[in-house]
Amino acid sequence: MLVHICCAVDSHYFLEKIQEEFPNEEIIGFFYDPNIHPYNEYRLRYLDVDYSCKKLGIRLIEGPYNLEEWLKKVKGLENEPEKGDRCTVCFDDRLETTVKKAIELGHDKFTSTLLISPKKSQDKLEKIGAELTSKYDCEFIFRDYRSGKGSQEQGLVVKENSLYRQNYCGCLFGLSAQREHQDKVMDEMFNPISNQILPESIESRLELYKKRDDLEEKNIPYKIIKQRFLNYRLMSGITKIDKKIIPSYFLCYSTLNRNSMNGRIEYEKDEIAYLNRDEVKVLSLKSFNEIGNSTYQTVKDLMFNPPTFESELNIRNKVTNNPYGLSTILVVDELIDGKYEIELNALIYEDVKEVII
Ligand code: SF4
Repeated sequence: MLVHICCAVDSHYFLEKIQEEFPNEEIIGFFYDPNIHPYNEYRLRYLDVDYSCKKLGIRLIEGPYNLEEWLKKVKGLENEPEKGDRCTVCFDDRLETTVKKAIELGHDKFTSTLLISPKKSQDKLEKIGAELTSKYDCEFIFRDYRSGKGSQEQGLVVKENSLYRQNYCGCLFGLSAQREHQDKVMDEMFNPISNQILPESIESRLELYKKRDDLEEKNIPYKIIKQRFLNYRLMSGITKIDKKIIPSYFLCYSTLNRNSMNGRIEYEKDEIAYLNRDEVKVLSLKSFNEIGNSTYQTVKDLMFNPPTFESELNIRNKVTNNPYGLSTILVVDELIDGKYEIELNALIYEDVKEVII
């Protein structure tokens, strides 16, 4: 039997039940989900499914990530609500590709872990499955493992196995509608030019779950817990001195009242300039390198290859001696005495992240 898998949260319990019910069946997992966006989220969900399948002793096959074709299929349905017509097309695509793969591999049965997902219409999936059964002469196995105590048991399995619990269905359209409704920053779509790994970004989750796999492999005890914290995203920042834009690097947690300021250097000490407005501090690259123990040659170099977010936070703390500081700290190649104009668009917001202890 070929089992289409959408994510480990849905697949782990579903596969356990399928293994129980079909003990003599060769069960193969098929991860085919070009709907998942962005690509790193796709990689993260695959990593988690791979980990889960290994635990269950199930062979896993990865399908193609043909995002462009998927986007063409749902064109015109971008604004449909979840469970609407876009989802029907999404199910059609994933189930039809699965049945074709099942036939290619010589299977006579196929199914999908989408059946256990609480936000998916089982009726719709059953109907699509039945149509594909008659079209391809390959039996769709419909099972409702979520009724009764199913969802509760599924939740326990997810916790026991430290699986990645994503908080959106998968596609860009569902994600943007959900974040808009929640009035929440869509930080899944942030990817800075510096490639710095930001707190509670998909990239940071990917690192965390790779670490989980490593600890599991080495049999080292661990637990994933949640922590509430203040998150930060820099949207844009520009520094002009005497009307000329200069390369500048804004340290994390830099914010500005009203997003812009004009000022001049009021005081200078140890290559750190203190402007006369909005508590702005300007560091020369030389002082930044000294404080951070780094060897950057230019600010542009720093912009494209910054230290880790945590190291940057340490530098901020050393400069301000204030762990809750939100004043703007920027780094420039050299301190210049002139008229500073700074525009900064940054967000600070309450967030929750997972950490391994
Ligand atoms: S919301 Fe989920 S099921 Fe619906 S189209 Fe997006 S990814 Fe597919």
